[in-house]
Amino acid sequence: MQTVWYDAEFIGQKVESPTTNRFWFKLLSENPIQYKSGQFLTFDFPVGDKRLDRWKSYSIANVYDGSNIIELGVSYKKGGLASQYLFESINKGDIIKCKGPDGNFVLPELKKQKLVLIATGAGVVPYRSMLQEIAASGNPYDEIHLIFGIRKEKDILYLEELEDWSHFIPFFKCSVCLSQASKIPKAKNKIQYHLGRVHQVYLEEYKTKNNNCQFMLCGWTNMIDEAVLNLHNVLKIPKEKIKYELFG
Ligand SMILES: Cc1cc2nc3c(=O)[nH]c(=O)nc-3n(C[C@H](O)[C@H](O)[C@H](O)COP(=O)(O)OP(=O)(O)OC[C@H]3O[C@@H](n4cnc5c(N)ncnc54)[C@H](O)[C@@H]3O)c2cc1C
Repeated sequence: MQTVWYDAEFIGQKVESPTTNRFWFKLLSENPIQYKSGQFLTFDFPVGDKRLDRWKSYSIANVYDGSNIIELGVSYKKGGLASQYLFESINKGDIIKCKGPDGNFVLPELKKQKLVLIATGAGVVPYRSMLQEIAASGNPYDEIHLIFGIRKEKDILYLEELEDWSHFIPFFKCSVCLSQASKIPKAKNKIQYHLGRVHQVYLEEYKTKNNNCQFMLCGWTNMIDEAVLNLHNVLKIPKEKIKYELFG
């Protein structure tokens, strides 16, 4: 099947944390480009001649609303071709080719189960669109537990929304794991803070009563590899109950 590329017009960006910005594009297509929460688009950035350098995928951060405006959440990578281009060179009105949406990292069909969403860094981006969808249409799952790993409190992405959702999405819980903080932030909301990495939280919490859980993982290889091994070998979670989106 022939790949369809469309034009995406860059319309703005905003700082979300010291290392991550929000970026907005308008997809220039007559008809709305439909996508499911959790899917990604692939962009062809003007950063060289090699396809591997130019083509980079980004999860869509906002729920589909038919407007053709999509939001990304991108972490800056020193020396990273695409991220540096987005943070430093792109201008409003620039047109970037993009294709998609692609990906199967979407909300599971089976509702009678608990979702355990594990992410580090920008790995929380696809969950943000999933949770926007759930906040708007109701929580169809038994429970949802987001376990989000980040270095320090100031690095937490979408903090306000995580706080809001902890209040008004029924049966939603958010655990934030700070890997480089020295003390737990004052509990001013319903988010549960931990010092350390994401692994200790799901290993402890799902040591037992894990037979009706769908685990979803998103982020970079080191976190995903460790989590898949832990879930499979330590908690004995069957492979079909572990779904992941690998950023690289
Ligand atoms: C399906 C999919 C969805 C993605 N969604 C997002 C998203 O929502 N937000 C986002 O920021 N990124 C996302 N990525 C990663 C993104 O595609 C790029 O790989 C990333 O932005 C780095 O690209 P670059 O051109 O800046 O760096 P490159 O020039 O490709 O980077 C150089 C090297 O650094 C490594 N690297 C880059 N960033 C990191 C990092 N943070 N941690 C560890 N190693 C790193 C790369 O693997 C590479 O070896 C996604 C990747 C995939 C496959």
